[in-house]
Amino acid sequence: MGRDIKFYCTGCGKSYRIDLLRHRCGACNEPLEVEEIKQGKIREGSAINQSMLERYADFFPFLDIEQNNSLGEGFTPIVESKKLAKDLCIQKLYFKNESQNPTWSFKDRGTAAGVAHALQLGYKRIGTASTGNMATSVAAYGAKANLETFIFVSKGIAVEKLKPIAIYHPHLIKVEGDYGNLYFESLRIGEENEIYFINSDVPLRVEGSKTVAFEICEQLNFRMPDYVIVPTSAGGNIRGIEKGFREFFTCGLIDEIPKILCAQASGCSPIFNAYHKRAEKISRVENPNTIAHAIENPYPPSGNRVLKMIRENKGTAVAVSDEEIIKAQAMLAEEGIFGQPASAVPLAAAKKLREENYIKADETVVCVVTGSGLKYTAALERHQLDVKECNLEELSSFIKDRF
Ligand SMILES: *Cc1c(COP(=O)(O)O)cnc(C)c1O
Ligand SMILES: [Zn+2]
Repeated sequence: MGRDIKFYCTGCGKSYRIDLLRHRCGACNEPLEVEEIKQGKIREGSAINQSMLERYADFFPFLDIEQNNSLGEGFTPIVESKKLAKDLCIQKLYFKNESQNPTWSFKDRGTAAGVAHALQLGYKRIGTASTGNMATSVAAYGAKANLETFIFVSKGIAVEKLKPIAIYHPHLIKVEGDYGNLYFESLRIGEENEIYFINSDVPLRVEGSKTVAFEICEQLNFRMPDYVIVPTSAGGNIRGIEKGFREFFTCGLIDEIPKILCAQASGCSPIFNAYHKRAEKISRVENPNTIAHAIENPYPPSGNRVLKMIRENKGTAVAVSDEEIIKAQAMLAEEGIFGQPASAVPLAAAKKLREENYIKADETVVCVVTGSGLKYTAALERHQLDVKECNLEELSSFIKDRF
């Protein structure tokens, strides 16, 4: 790797070479991170004919990027809701709609970055351990880049979730046993078998998520919102988003960094719990239970890092109930956006923090809508949905009489 960039440990600060496959610190087991990029600018030209990795190439530790491995990730819309801003009584409210990625979630950003790094290091095999969006994403990008792809899922995975992974023809393996340990075991198996595991919070996945922040800066003409709210599980995405704003700030592209708010479901909120207990480290949540399955990690591998980050950033952590999540999912749909329950968590959090007067009436909020509602249609059972019926002969009068 020609650019002199290193990994450093987010726990103890030890530095590591970036051209060797290593995701966590050998000394303290905390996640590694690519050191902060201190000089860079947005590539000239239009996003219409650049890939996401090309446009922000200065902010990635790659020498060259193979355009052919892109599926068109990133460059997702930011949608303003005047109606919900008014309802919540805040200045402006935006939704960064990540469901418009190639496999319908933000995970594609980190997968694209992970694949680019894997190829640069000469790997022919990639993998991940996931039950949801990440499995689909890695399977799709593995297929596109023609890499041998290993997907470990937990034994109890629903068929509805399994087949959309299988369609990309990875080596798909159902694993019986503790799902939390599968994360660490897969990293170890990867090191032994030359498989580059692009798990939830590995350094290059975090790098990929920086682009969410970069795009928000561009889309809001570099005028920063007061808050960016991110639904958080493993912690990779929120780390990337914060790092993205920090790097744009360091490089002089923006003149302030928004507060980053970590939003969790109250049925599984290890980071929120530790933050409000003023604990140094997170503790495992026993019996996690929430409808927002995409953020149901009881012992997030980047939990300690996120805890430290939100303290330094001066953001906060917030937890919302399933009832609040379902309500927010319905509110989003009224604005034309169908996100999965985890994706509705930021809006529920914004509403709650406004009611508590943490967010003020003259402030601006961006909610990251992380993935598509079509990924988890079972949540539709929780909504009051109305369907009418009529035969064709009576349809005309039916409409005239009723509406
Ligand atoms: C993965 C995922 C999250 C959580 O992201 P982390 O990086 O694990 O914190 C949130 N929402 C959706 C839809 C996801 O797929
Ligand atoms: Zn360390």
